Amino acid sequence: MLSMKTTVVGAGPVGLLLACELALHGVRTTVLERLTAQADTIKAQMISGRTYEMLAMRGFGHAIDAASEADAARLAWHSRGSTGHFAGLFKLDGLPLIMLMQQTLERALEARARELGVEIRRGVEVTELPDADFVIGCDGGRSTVRKLAGFDFPGTGPSLTGYQAIVDLDGDLPFGWHRTPHGVHAFGPLKGRIMLMEFDGPPETRDVTRESLEAALRRVSGRDVRITAVHTATSWTDNTRQATTYRRGNVLLAGDAAHVHSPFGGQGLNLGLQDALNLGWKLATGDSALIDTYTTERHPVAERVLRNTMAQVALTRPDPQSRELHAMFSDLLDLPEVKSRISAMIQGTDIRYDTGCDHPLAGTFVPGLDLSDGKGTNIALNGLEATIRPDGYIEQIA
Ligand SMILES: Cc1cc2nc3c(=O)[nH]c(=O)nc-3n(C[C@H](O)[C@H](O)[C@H](O)COP(=O)(O)OP(=O)(O)OC[C@H]3O[C@@H](n4cnc5c(N)ncnc54)[C@H](O)[C@@H]3O)c2cc1C
Repeated sequence: MLSMKTTVVGAGPVGLLLACELALHGVRTTVLERLTAQADTIKAQMISGRTYEMLAMRGFGHAIDAASEADAARLAWHSRGSTGHFAGLFKLDGLPLIMLMQQTLERALEARARELGVEIRRGVEVTELPDADFVIGCDGGRSTVRKLAGFDFPGTGPSLTGYQAIVDLDGDLPFGWHRTPHGVHAFGPLKGRIMLMEFDGPPETRDVTRESLEAALRRVSGRDVRITAVHTATSWTDNTRQATTYRRGNVLLAGDAAHVHSPFGGQGLNLGLQDALNLGWKLATGDSALIDTYTTERHPVAERVLRNTMAQVALTRPDPQSRELHAMFSDLLDLPEVKSRISAMIQGTDIRYDTGCDHPLAGTFVPGLDLSDGKGTNIALNGLEATIRPDGYIEQIA
């Protein structure tokens, strides 16, 4: 299917990685992006250990290591080796998180996509479905592609307002996560980075000003702190929705276009990047039945993330009953079995796809492989012949 023409809408991290995947398979790919330059709004600052392994498989390991070192140098306190949290409970174990600013990753992906011959057209806002063999909406939570193609996007509306910003502060604010009777405030690990949550409904406007941020910080923390400068700021909610299918004819969705949820546990970017790695090689075959397995495999993974982020919101609310629930959950997380189950769920290390092979390792991920040609391979595993898919998951063992 090398004569196939695909159009990816959105040059966020998911669209860029998907474009790289398609180009690796020789598929002619155009990316349309409405912004003329990369946005500098602060979003994710870490990727999971599993996402790191998957990107390293494509040769991004050294670039990420170097960028991560540089980003880590900007940490206000030492958080390397962190394995993440559940509802602010920093008790998870398993693969460590990799410090990496989303913008840094986007720059590396865009450079690689261009190197692979992807045409990236910036300053182009998509308002009608482009003409291509396949159109993939990677255009974020308010996806135009999703709306134009008529995907259903059911879910639960927002109940909280969150803020994330890098600021200069005048006053005392303790590092780490803090729950108060009025919400949550967090400071660090990046210098000047604050995160706030208020559980009294969605914001009236998505615009964040120095004044509104300072007022929220003072309300939540109860401290006499002033914000003297805002370097970057964003607001978010716990709007939780998922497309019922990721494919309608020749239109597909990936990343936030397919699923939105609160950033609890830092899962959204990982989810979207892994969507891209699951979809790219399948799409390149043009095999309709194989392409349909993208929804079958990835929809349940995101569904579980949506559910666990909703549970984290409930656990984090400041009312007395939720505080007790949080305290009980904290005790439960000290039990090794609970800890490892929740850790694997948040890090996505327990994903097992149904590949039609019933060996217990089939459908699980094999780290440590160089699959930079995106083609998959055969390896000897415990003396058995294992077929590895291009996304690093074991297809079958014979
Ligand atoms: C405050 C915050 C903190 C977060 N922290 C984490 C974290 O720690 N870990 C984690 O894993 N995730 C985190 N996330 C989630 C993560 O940022 C998102 O999941 C990720 O950005 C999704 O990538 P995407 O490529 O799907 O969408 P986006 O990044 O939204 O990119 C979509 C692109 O499409 C473009 N576009 C939109 N409409 C059109 C159109 N009509 N035509 C052309 N182009 C269009 C946009 O300009 C944009 O460039 C966080 C999110 C927020 C808001």
